[in-house]
Amino acid sequence: MRKPLVMGNWKLNGSKPMALDLVTGLTKHLANIEGCDVAIAPPVVYLDYVQKLLADSNIILGAQNVDTHLSGAYTGDISADMLKEVGATHIIIGHSERRTYHKECDKFIAEKFAILKESGLVPVLCIGETEAENEAGQTEAVCAKQIDAVIDLLGVKAFNNTVIAYEPVWAIGTGKSATPAQAQAVHKFIRDHLAKLDASVAQQVIIQYGGSVNDKNAAELFTQPDIDGALVGGASLKADAFAAIVKAA
Ligand code: 13P
Repeated sequence: MRKPLVMGNWKLNGSKPMALDLVTGLTKHLANIEGCDVAIAPPVVYLDYVQKLLADSNIILGAQNVDTHLSGAYTGDISADMLKEVGATHIIIGHSERRTYHKECDKFIAEKFAILKESGLVPVLCIGETEAENEAGQTEAVCAKQIDAVIDLLGVKAFNNTVIAYEPVWAIGTGKSATPAQAQAVHKFIRDHLAKLDASVAQQVIIQYGGSVNDKNAAELFTQPDIDGALVGGASLKADAFAAIVKAA
């Protein structure tokens, strides 16, 4: 049995007062949650602060990015060990916003996956097709290619104890979520793709859906057998909405 994971990706949003408000709200709403893991990924400058706010809670701390190096002359970058030191365990990599705005390619993202595994952290690997790729019927090919970059570098067993977030780019921040059936079909494809190489890895990997998940559409998405929770952007900035999504899982 896979335990779903609902993770909030705050993206480039927040401040100390906002973090205090949001985390106070979440710890209150989610004090006795069982059967679902919950994580939040604030901007990196607030990790230490949020970690202290989460001290007595079972909410997991995550981060939104990592560098491929552990130390050295890489101005502006943050290492896996630094994230680990401030208590972050689940690290988002390969988000479409980084693929687009920072030109991150599959091979570079696979290197990030590798450094996270080496450091004992949990990669949350984002994959998904653009609207044009979707319309051209390339969804499966794009998802397979993004996953295969990791398999080529590390082998399929690297996906043990990791998370894949299927985030169709056309659904991110658009209010236009994939339907439960659409998302389920891609999630099943992803699991079957891994199962061709290793059935037990495929059975345990957490596959989240992301893209305009909110407190209205979450419950129906979570009825699907291969949807193991969600990676939530906009709705993770409101304690009530995020808590409702967690409860739906
Ligand atoms: P939205 O929930 O705002 O569509 O963002 C999804 C996302 O990109 C999470 O990583």
